[in-house]
Amino acid sequence: MTVHILFNGDLPELLPLKKRKKNLTVKCVCKRSVKDLIQSLGVPHTEVGEILVNNQKVDSSYVLLGGEKVEVFPVPVPAESHLQPSNNDPPRFICDVHLWKLARRLRLLGFDTWFDQRWDDEELADIAHREKLILLTRDRGLLKRNKVEQGLLIRNTDPEKQVIEILQRLGIGKIVNPFTRCLLCSGILEPAAREDQFFQKKLKPQIPAKVLEWCSEFHFCVSCEKVFWKGSHYKKLTRLIKKYLAV
Ligand SMILES: [Zn+2]
Repeated sequence: MTVHILFNGDLPELLPLKKRKKNLTVKCVCKRSVKDLIQSLGVPHTEVGEILVNNQKVDSSYVLLGGEKVEVFPVPVPAESHLQPSNNDPPRFICDVHLWKLARRLRLLGFDTWFDQRWDDEELADIAHREKLILLTRDRGLLKRNKVEQGLLIRNTDPEKQVIEILQRLGIGKIVNPFTRCLLCSGILEPAAREDQFFQKKLKPQIPAKVLEWCSEFHFCVSCEKVFWKGSHYKKLTRLIKKYLAV
């Protein structure tokens, strides 16, 4: 059987070089779901929004019999997206092993971002499913797993561009909340009072004596107890955040 398939938006970029055109006629050997066909051409289901078969909107489990005209649209960005952000319910992420730089930058912007270099693909998919996290990866195979309900195939290789890519694709530039999460573990940051016993016992030993002389404002991570203060790196990070939000 053959199926005519039309990819819209930037989806043709995900097709193999030889098939990189909007209109394709694809040969299929047996009945298969439209989702299966789309993924076999290299487009993970997480990148796909609406699917039309013979001009009718269908579910991705729709079984093709042959001869249909299929039209595939990317996930709408961002207003009509199922990933639409709000301040009350900001998106939460999980990054694959290669995207640790991206994970730190998303935490800097205040987004809960899970990362552990020990997690393999199966664990990443399991955790993303269980915790309802958006899986960020450059690995299409990972996004093709059925368990992965929400994911983004990251197009850029440069971490700075990756951050901007995510802010733009999800439309979340307006709901950033910088310096509210730990860069190491994504835990929430809280202010630390110098007179508290907890500060004296757990936090003070982490702070260089010179910093204690001039700095009075400290925050700590409620999960890993790492201390943060507005040192020389603070200006650098502030500049970085401005750059992300200026685009
Ligand atoms: Zn932490």
